[in-house]
Amino acid sequence: MSDNDGKKTLGVRGGGPRSGNVKQSFSHGRTKNVVVETKRKRIVKPKLGTAQRDPAKGGGQTSSGGANRPAGISDAEMERRMKALQAAKLREAEETARREAEEQAREEERQRRRQEAEAKEREQREAEERLRAKADEEERQRKATEEAVNLAAAPAPEAAPAARPTPTKQPPRRGETPERDQKSRSRAKGRDDGRRSGKLTLNQALSGGEGGRQRSLAAMKRKQERARQKALGGHEAREKIVRDVRLPEAITVGELAVRMAERVADVVKALMQSGIMATQNQVIDADTAELIIEEFGHRVTRVSDSDVEDVIDQIEDKDEDMRPRPPVITVMGHVDHGKTSLLDAIRNATVVEGEAGGITQHIGAYQVQTDSGALLTFLDTPGHAAFTSMRARGAQVTDIVVLVVAADDSVMPQTIEAINHAKAAKVPMIVAINKCDKPEANPDKVRAELLQHEVVVEAMSGEVQDVEVSATTRQGLDELLESIALQAEILELKANPDRPAEGAVIEAQLDVGRGPVATVLVQRGTLRQGDIFVVGEQFGKVRALINDRGDRVKEAGPSVPVEVLGLNGTPEAGDVLNVVETEAQAREIAEYRHNAAKEKRAAAGAATSLEQLLAQAKENENVKELPILVKADVQGSAEAIIQAMEKVGNEEVRVRVLHSGVGAITESDIGLAEASGAPVFGFNVRANAPARASANQKGVEIRYYSVIYDLVDDVKAAASGLLGSEIRENFIGYAEIREVFKVSGVGKVAGCLVTEGVARRSAGVRLLRDDVVIHEGTLKTLKRFKDEVAEVQSGQECGMAFENYEDIRQGDVIEIFEREEVERELQ
Ligand code: GDP
Repeated sequence: MSDNDGKKTLGVRGGGPRSGNVKQSFSHGRTKNVVVETKRKRIVKPKLGTAQRDPAKGGGQTSSGGANRPAGISDAEMERRMKALQAAKLREAEETARREAEEQAREEERQRRRQEAEAKEREQREAEERLRAKADEEERQRKATEEAVNLAAAPAPEAAPAARPTPTKQPPRRGETPERDQKSRSRAKGRDDGRRSGKLTLNQALSGGEGGRQRSLAAMKRKQERARQKALGGHEAREKIVRDVRLPEAITVGELAVRMAERVADVVKALMQSGIMATQNQVIDADTAELIIEEFGHRVTRVSDSDVEDVIDQIEDKDEDMRPRPPVITVMGHVDHGKTSLLDAIRNATVVEGEAGGITQHIGAYQVQTDSGALLTFLDTPGHAAFTSMRARGAQVTDIVVLVVAADDSVMPQTIEAINHAKAAKVPMIVAINKCDKPEANPDKVRAELLQHEVVVEAMSGEVQDVEVSATTRQGLDELLESIALQAEILELKANPDRPAEGAVIEAQLDVGRGPVATVLVQRGTLRQGDIFVVGEQFGKVRALINDRGDRVKEAGPSVPVEVLGLNGTPEAGDVLNVVETEAQAREIAEYRHNAAKEKRAAAGAATSLEQLLAQAKENENVKELPILVKADVQGSAEAIIQAMEKVGNEEVRVRVLHSGVGAITESDIGLAEASGAPVFGFNVRANAPARASANQKGVEIRYYSVIYDLVDDVKAAASGLLGSEIRENFIGYAEIREVFKVSGVGKVAGCLVTEGVARRSAGVRLLRDDVVIHEGTLKTLKRFKDEVAEVQSGQECGMAFENYEDIRQGDVIEIFEREEVERELQ
């Protein structure tokens, strides 16, 4: 309804007599009119008409009633209204003007803000660039001498700005802080011609036109740098507070700076000056850090977080608590002189006989009893590699060394090494002159040659016992054991069995079914089921103890080797086991050790890579590194390989073991190998399926070995570039054990499916359990149904039995391989 009215009204007003007024008011500005109109409806065209009417509405803005009284208004009323209207118009005009002004002001404000924002952005950019500049600075400092020359010649480059504005160089210039800028400018004015300083100011005012500014700032920058370098001493002087810096065994550069309350950049610089390139997050060792701390004039307090370890070793063993304990014996000697044979012979001589064909439990150590009743503990890992690596870890477990020397071969390099190791460890020796059954055996020659190495045997009126033995015929074995027992008596070995156990890890591995397993030789106290312990970086609670015969036992006293189950992770050979009171303690200690070891490794890594960098980049471009990765079945093998690798190399080539570990070769190993261009060596382990695929794809070489010396020889050959012919193994097939049968007369037979290639009766076989080689040998039978066959093709089922080996399980994989000799090419 009102709509209709409105329309009419419009018509009436349109021809109304007060158009002049309207005009007048109109000239005040359309904006107003429009404003009023929008209140109602947007009727665009008839503005003139509405202009008159609108004011009425405008006057009575508060109500819509205006529209209801179109014609019934008196003139006086109308006039009054018009006046009011005019006044309103005026007000509104003023209002508009004000708004416009405001709008303008706002616009200006906006503009200003935009400029500010831009400026801010610029500043931010500059800040970033400043950071980059710092990096640049470091970079430049590395070439300290050159830089010095550059610095000296600074004014010259300034004159040639065109060469300057490289993106990396820009930041430092623009990155100056305002005060610095000012200082710089004033200095520039003082020194340089006014033109340049003028330019600088101009450039500051304007955001563009950086060329000149760069130039000047570049100069400033250099000057400041020089000044700062000079003032480095002054810097220290300014740092009056001498702090006590707690220094752990390894620390990051950043943390070191924080602890000294110095700037990271200064610390980095100081490190550089000592020839160490390190970034903020890099870890440096305590010795290096100490030098830096001293350089900054602070005091060093070497601390170790090892306080957590204080719970260990609080018990003092009293003399009256000490009880005799069996000696622990390590067999050492040159390769092939019969260490393994002798260990086996000793074991079999005393282990319950009649258990022929039974599975001998290999846990890394075993105990035997001599005829006279003395107990002896033998470490089952022959060779000095294990001995040294254990010793290096602070686990001196060996009481007596049996030095095996073959009577037909006499003293050889590793015999001498073994002698030196025994002497270094101050462990008494007993010489076992082995292979005396051989016709060409010459024990006296051995004795005479030992003399040259200051080993004087009893037969030569010395003090070192010597026994002629034969591992093959078992001749002299008892005599050897009695000699050992005698030696042990002389040593008066004792330990307190009534205290929390302490022992050393002899071997450790991740067992498929049982999880991490460690063979621990208890050295003091008694280890019991349920005990909570920490071992190296691992901890746990003894779930089960298994002795060298494979029997579960409740406890193990001094000199007793036991397999320990219930670890949270696999420790390393040589790690020390300590029984503690609570699991929290155990965990805390393990964590502390883990972190410490990690930091140490990181520090070592940094050092190596640095050396590498220097070695490669600088003087010795000829020294090459041969990086390798090693995975092995047990820790002992891995360590032995690493030690052997360290010895490989000459002035031209060094072998660097990037990583080593126990267990199957995994995808992450391949990743690391690829990144470093390293081959992967598997010692009695295989790559799992994803790793194999990844290696194929990335072209990473994987080599498998089952004899350490083969591996060493290959690496040596690769390192020296002298690649002769080699025996290469070809994997011709794989079979999976589906079932295990017991066949009387034959023993255990594996019901297999040949999954890849071919199974050949004449070929060598390995038994893999979880990609770890657990046995290598030959086949006793290869059957297809009831028939003995020479070959079984992929996809077919067959029965296989190993020669002299019974421990086969469903799910195991049989690897079938053949050896061939191939002439190698120089790569
Ligand atoms: P290892 O490398 O020191 O562990 O030496 P091994 O125990 O593997 O023996 C190397 C070789 O020497 C093997 O072929 C043994 O059969 C052989 N051998 C070891 N002891 C004797 C021995 O007393 N008499 C003879 N005739 N051969 C032996």
